[in-house]
Amino acid sequence: MAEITEFDTIAAISTPIGEGAISIVRLSGDQAVAIANKVTRNIDLTKVASHTINYAHVIDPQTQQDIDEVMVSVMLAPKTFTREDIVEINTHGGIMATNSVLQTLLSNGARLAEPGEFTKRAFLNGRIDLTQAESVMDIIRAKTDKARQQALNQLDGSLAHLIRNLRQQILEVLAQVEVNIDYPEYDTEQMTINLLQEKAQQISQKITDLIKTASEGQILNHGLKTAIIGKPNVGKSSLLNALSHQQRAIVTDVAGTTRDVIEQMANINGIPLQLVDTAGIHATEDKVEQLGVDRSLQALDNADLVLMLLDGSRHLDDQDLKLLQLTQNKKRIIIINKMDLPQVLSRQQLTGEINKEQPIAISALGQQGIDQIEQQIEQLFFAGVPTSTNTAVVTNARQLGLLKQAQQALTDVQTGIQQQMPIDLVQIDMTNCWNLLGEITGESAPDELITELFSQFCLGK
Ligand code: GDP
Repeated sequence: MAEITEFDTIAAISTPIGEGAISIVRLSGDQAVAIANKVTRNIDLTKVASHTINYAHVIDPQTQQDIDEVMVSVMLAPKTFTREDIVEINTHGGIMATNSVLQTLLSNGARLAEPGEFTKRAFLNGRIDLTQAESVMDIIRAKTDKARQQALNQLDGSLAHLIRNLRQQILEVLAQVEVNIDYPEYDTEQMTINLLQEKAQQISQKITDLIKTASEGQILNHGLKTAIIGKPNVGKSSLLNALSHQQRAIVTDVAGTTRDVIEQMANINGIPLQLVDTAGIHATEDKVEQLGVDRSLQALDNADLVLMLLDGSRHLDDQDLKLLQLTQNKKRIIIINKMDLPQVLSRQQLTGEINKEQPIAISALGQQGIDQIEQQIEQLFFAGVPTSTNTAVVTNARQLGLLKQAQQALTDVQTGIQQQMPIDLVQIDMTNCWNLLGEITGESAPDELITELFSQFCLGK
């Protein structure tokens, strides 16, 4: 068997598995055309023009048996997604036809691609940088139009462009420092120190601005983790349904029937909300229910936002008070449900239990007041944040972590200068900052990181 190398020809099914009109099996590598040609009849794929789609039959070259009637796209390097030769075979949809075509390619010289390997090759061959690769993944996973738009902007390379610009500035300063170290007789030391100080400050400001975009970026990308908390029967499942405009959680009038944590996505003016309906946090003997209660507490811990639900048709009780206390340090919206029923909950008592929050009265069942919740969510998370659909936005924890480290390195530069440390030590911190920024775009990213990152992709991408 031939030795497996990083650049052998890979193949995978690039469309979701299931019944559909067509599926696409993709090949990439310098043998892509040769392998595809070996398994097709009635056409010589080595002779067709690049970027054309061709009618053919896939056969098993050993038995000469027909496998599927297909359309084959041939795209020759370098103008392809991976910058390698790519062949895409449009097969009939369904698992059998698609799988048989893939198996035939694998028996005739191709290797099964790892998840994300096509995109990894695009990166390794210099077609895209790491932030763009991440945005490919984000586009696939985008849950709302706004999130998709943001990912699309990133695919343009706006973040990478900005980062490269900062790195270039650092490089210029470092070059100046070098001159100073090599030719100290020119007495440029003070100038170099001033320049270092000034640049460290400027770049640090730019990084601060970028960091500010992170919460928006991450929320758009991953959704705002929202826990719906309240005692049994208060209307949590009904609110989940009202917010997600779908019937998903089972609504019953037996207290404690939402036994598990139910998750649902909702789209609030383009903000994806990852809603978690909890079993209600209350003491229970029931083992199954206890499991739900534990998970509810965990959901509460992880939540970015809590929708704290009270029942307007009942008096505030110990459970309500306990939950109000438990959620007091969270970003929360207090909601009084069942406003369509006679109201007995004492507003005065409630006001004594909460800070300056303004409770919102709703009827989850009658879909009343839901828009007020939506407005409040926007207020809480996006007030004052420019909607940055056109600019560079930090979209994940990896980028954010690196930016924070880079900023720390710049703080170290500034402290070093203040403490009159030798300039070559200050230079180390500046170089460190340059490296950290390079990790964001992938220019100085370690191999393990790259492998780890692409392994999160789906197969065939
Ligand atoms: P959960 O246990 O907190 O998830 O509560 P559910 O959503 O299952 O609701 C419990 C009961 O309260 C069901 O019978 C719902 O129909 C009812 N309910 C929920 N919201 C409202 C509302 O706004 N008004 C009225 N009248 N009933 C409601």
